[in-house]
This record gives sequence, C-alpha cells and structure tokens, in this order.
Amino acid sequence: MIQKKLFKELENKNIFDNANEYGKQYLKNVFSRKVFPDEKTIEKLTVFDEIFPEGFTSSKEILDLLNCYGSPATVAQFGSRYFGFVNGSMIPAGLASRLLADFWDQNAAMQITSPIISKLEEVVQSWLVHLFNLPENAVAGFVSGTSMATFSGLAAARFRILERKGWNVNKKGLFRAPQVRLVLGKQAHSTVLKAISLLGFGTDCIEWVNTDTQGRIIPEELPELDENTILILQAGNVNTGSFDNFEYICQKAENSNAWIHIDGAFGLWAAASEKLSYLVKGMELADSWSVDGHKTLNTPYDNGIILCRDEEALISALHMSGSYIISGKKRDGMKYTPEMSRRSRVVELWATLKSLGRTGVDEMVFTMHMLAKQFAEGLQKEGFTILNEICFNQVLIRYKDSKQTEKLLKKVQELNVLWCGSSEWEGEKAIRISICSWTTTPDDIKMSLESFVKAKRLVDIELQIPPG
Ligand SMILES: *Cc1c(COP(=O)(O)O)cnc(C)c1O
Repeated sequence: MIQKKLFKELENKNIFDNANEYGKQYLKNVFSRKVFPDEKTIEKLTVFDEIFPEGFTSSKEILDLLNCYGSPATVAQFGSRYFGFVNGSMIPAGLASRLLADFWDQNAAMQITSPIISKLEEVVQSWLVHLFNLPENAVAGFVSGTSMATFSGLAAARFRILERKGWNVNKKGLFRAPQVRLVLGKQAHSTVLKAISLLGFGTDCIEWVNTDTQGRIIPEELPELDENTILILQAGNVNTGSFDNFEYICQKAENSNAWIHIDGAFGLWAAASEKLSYLVKGMELADSWSVDGHKTLNTPYDNGIILCRDEEALISALHMSGSYIISGKKRDGMKYTPEMSRRSRVVELWATLKSLGRTGVDEMVFTMHMLAKQFAEGLQKEGFTILNEICFNQVLIRYKDSKQTEKLLKKVQELNVLWCGSSEWEGEKAIRISICSWTTTPDDIKMSLESFVKAKRLVDIELQIPPG
C-alpha cells in the first residue's frame, strides 16, 4: 500500500518542481521582506502541533504546509541585512549543488559508499591545506560545524598526549589516566567548553588565561606549557572579532611540545584575504584548527571542518572498525569524523570554493571587513560607542549604558529593517553586529544606519517624556 503510493509520488515529479518553485519564490522575496518574522506568523506555527498522523499525507500537501507556514516563519538569513550571531548566507553554486547532492543521497562514510564524495573530500582537503597555508601533511575531516570540529581536534590532542605517556585512552579511558592540562583564554567560545566537558576532562581543570580589552590572550600571562598541555587559541572572538597572537604564542610554545588547537570558526578565513592574512600570522604552527564553512565562507548550513597536522592522532581518536567495514583504496571520510554515516556536505563546500576561486574568497572576506568598518564609522558619527577595534567583520556597540542599549536594540528589532542581537562586554550590555553575508552591500549598511538613527530617536523621545 504505502510502497505503491510512494512510487506514484516519485512518478509524479511535480513535487520536486513544486519544491523548486517555492524555493525560487523564497529567494525572490528574501531581500525585500522583513528580516524577522512577526508575532502573528510565529503564532501560526501551531498548525504543526498535531499528534502523529495515522495514515499517509501527500508530498504536495506537506510542501504546501511548509511553504505556507514555514517559509514566512524563517529568519531572512539568506538576505543582506541579517547581522545576527555570526551567521552566513549561501552562494548560489553552493545551494544548487546541495540540491543535486540531496538527490544523490550519498552516505559519505566510505569510498565504497560513495566514490564521488571520497574524491571531493580529497580535493577540498588539499585546497584548504593550501588556502590556509598549513603543513603539507595536514588532513581534514568534514563535520557539522565548528563545535564538532573542536571536539575532534581536542580528541586527537587527548589521544596523542596520553599515547606519549604510554596510555591508550581508547582502551583505558580517563579514570586514573595521567593528567592532561588545558590552557585557554577567558574569552574562549562556549563550544570549546562543551568539547572539554564531552571529552571527560571537565571544565574545572581549565587553566584560564587573562585576556586584553579585545578578548585576546595576554601572552605574558600564559602559564609554563609542557607536553601534557592542550593550549586553545582563537581566531575571531565572537564579540570583537579579535585574534590571538599566534606567531608569538606558538613560537613561545614551540619547545614545550604542547598541543595547540585554534578555534577559527569564522576568523580562520582571514587567511584567505591577502590584506587580512596578517591577523592569522603564525597559525600554521598549531597542531589542529577548527573552522566553519557555513559562516564566513557562506556555504549552506551544517558545514564545518577539522584540520589536523597529526593524521594518526586524529584517526586513532575517531576511527572505528567492524567486520563489515570495507576500506577503500582511496579516502574513507569517516576515519576523520566522529560520525560514520554522514550526508555529503563536502559537495557544497567544494562547489562554493570552486565557484568563488581564490580571488573570489579573498574579495568576499575583505568586503565583509570593509562593510564592518563602514557600519562602525557610521554608528560612531551618530553618537554610538564602538567597543571594539574593527579588525575583521564584527562590530560591538553600546548606547550610553546597558539599559539604553537594550532599549535601542529592541527598537532596532521592532523596526525590522535589519536584525542583530545582543551580547555582554565587560559586564555591560552591548549590541553585536556581524557582517557575514556575501549579499550585503554598502546600501544595506546605509539603510541599517538610518534604522539605527531612527531607533535612537525613539529611545531618546521615551527618555524625555516618561509614559503616563
Ligand atoms: C560559531 C562559533 C563556534 C561554534 O561553531 P558551530 O559551527 O556553531 O558549531 C565556535 N567558536 C567560535 C569562535 C564561533 O564563532
């Protein structure tokens, strides 16, 4: 019964055309619509609250439901005035290739489950190693995002450090294991802490290092490093966009044999811009690097990469085996990731890189920086306080104090010309703007500045005339 129905749906290829059509309509409106869905639209999502249906529903009905209620309740992240978190858009070739790859429905685990994915993973690994100027022997694992990439890099570090002590952590676990030290800056991203927890170290053991006004590790405050240490550095602070001084710190650490991991979720891409690559100088001296495709590079979502110079450690930390595993002559991607079965996310990464080319990536990354500067300069002129040095793509601002800043942000969000979120910086509220989309133009910044000015006027009026 069900099989017959499903085959019938497959024969009637209209449903795929429908999906395409809805997708194309979505793209048509995404630049002009309000960035965030309104309350009413969100309330209507209750149509999805139903008990698990007993019988069959047609794809047509399903797509219509999604398009009617789902599409309007999305955040216009593809569009050009979404400055929330550090969330990227996507470039056309990435989206289109992903659509095709979805038809393929490959399991990216092994070469034997998908020769094409094995090939593309090899190619992209090589491109990234060169793009980031990493050691020739560095390898890449294609994971869901930087959270998983950091987890994988730290797992490799844990394996290697304990292996040097004659302790096989895969077999013996962490109870009674030799002590591994974890050194990180006070501004490390929360997902680094998550990885540390998941790996069984626990966050209590962290040796915290003080950071400066931009969130950079103060190198002089680093503790003595040794071969039992994992040192975690950051390329791109989520608030300020700042970078640790890799060259200085890595050189200082060189003789200690400590494992250095760089969390470069969005910032590592500075390496791809000739004019910004000074920010990551010396990063090649680290042992492992985590980076996202779905932020600065603008691939579709779930796209992250772990890069590691110690292939054996990464594979040993993540590899599994079983009687049914058939090793390929070429790359088996699952050796480099925590997951076994995966979708073929490398396709859109490959397509994005190929579409842009080296100069395209450079230009895109540098443009984000220039737009962030335009935004910051404009805001400063209008009397807002800029809290960070605009070294990359992040702008952190405050209006008078925490309270006024919150009010301002609320107004900006209500005006809904753009969307950005809040953060805390040095104990007070701040507004955080991230330029992370290839679609953003100087006109978008101008429109956004006008909206900020309008919001400020509204906040000021409320301040002068207390309600009631
Ligand atoms: C976004 C981000 C992460 C987490 O990355 P996901 O791709 O969301 O898992 C980690 N570190 C930094 C600095 C980030 O900006």
